[in-house]
Amino acid sequence: MDKKILKDIDVAGKKVLVRVDFNVPMEAGEVADDTRLRAALPTIEYLIEEGAKVILMSHLGRPGGKVDSELRLDPVAKRLANLLNQAVTKTDETVGEEPQTAIERMETGEVLLLENTRFNPGEKANDPDFARQLGELADVYVNDAFGATHRAHASTAGVVEYVQEAAMGFLVQNELKMISQAIDNPDTPLVAIIGGAKVSDKIGVIESLLNKADALLIGGGMANTFIAAQGYNIGDSLVEADKLDLAKRLMEEAKNKGVNLVLPSDVVVADDFSNQAETKVVKVEDIEDGWQALDIGPESINSFTQVLKDAKTVVWNGPLGVFEMSNFAKGTMEIVQVLADLEATTIIGGGDSAAAVEKAGLAAEMTHISTGGGASLQLLEGKTLPGVEALDDRE
Ligand code: ADP
Ligand code: MG
Repeated sequence: MDKKILKDIDVAGKKVLVRVDFNVPMEAGEVADDTRLRAALPTIEYLIEEGAKVILMSHLGRPGGKVDSELRLDPVAKRLANLLNQAVTKTDETVGEEPQTAIERMETGEVLLLENTRFNPGEKANDPDFARQLGELADVYVNDAFGATHRAHASTAGVVEYVQEAAMGFLVQNELKMISQAIDNPDTPLVAIIGGAKVSDKIGVIESLLNKADALLIGGGMANTFIAAQGYNIGDSLVEADKLDLAKRLMEEAKNKGVNLVLPSDVVVADDFSNQAETKVVKVEDIEDGWQALDIGPESINSFTQVLKDAKTVVWNGPLGVFEMSNFAKGTMEIVQVLADLEATTIIGGGDSAAAVEKAGLAAEMTHISTGGGASLQLLEGKTLPGVEALDDRE
């Protein structure tokens, strides 16, 4: 790793500005799921122990560059205070006099949370003036918002120009280590499971993994495009007609590269996109008009399982069916169980995939569940992350 990490920098007595990912789900003005808060605790607690003045910042939702009272971070500060068992000062502004004054009053070991960074239009625009205002609040900067590292925003990238030193926090460090190791230096066979709604979301991932994985299992909505590319009728299934040639090319590429590309051989079809719809299991060559494929079938679950049994490393991105509806969750849930029972290293990337693992109650059985959907996808594509690239190089 060629970028500075938290342990490389001296933080004692310093004002440390930490970009965290507190973009948490809210319900009735309360934090509905504090997973992302807990994921940031190691960095925050370390900074407290080292005697830093801890200044946190995050975005929440999409306020569109202006104040949205529903998206203020006060409930987040409250929950964080509970988790840390210490007071968290919350400012009503992100930059300017109010936070400056509050920061001047801070003692070492204290924690302060700035208001939602996206209340300012300069955040997403990576505006140098807003970045400078953020940077001037502190001495050093730490990026621990893995879920935002694929964005070049003022608080994730631009700010680095205006601080003395910039390093990654423990969460970012661990995510990079786990995901990079799994795809660049894995125990083999490396098996990748790619699902989700659309091929177009994940072309880059499939192309990149064709150079790295021993086997590629494709399910979910995107499998329909591959099924159609094989010349089968896909009925009313979600399909990307303009991606058929691409799907053919990817299948050809897999063959040439000796990658075992496994597509569903049977699917669960429904006569409507609804959990109340009539359903049946059919072979992929027997999908009729008026029916849509919403999950992989038992034969496919079986063939996926056979390949997974030999895996030493598994990378998974994207559910294998419309798992939000119980009648189309079986493929995803059974494969989650298979992964839980494997000895292999199991890496889960993607927000919905992580949600499926949580729903199955098997999160603890996985080696690593990424906290960043978009960022983990970008790593799987073999791309760099702007929020990491911006940090100081290690000496
Ligand atoms: P992740 O967040 O893990 O990267 P995606 O966002 O790419 O996953 O895809 C998840 C979505 O794909 C889910 O909402 C799921 O309902 C949908 N999906 C999966 N299989 C199908 C299918 N056969 N038809 C339509 N949508 C599907
Ligand atoms: Mg998703």
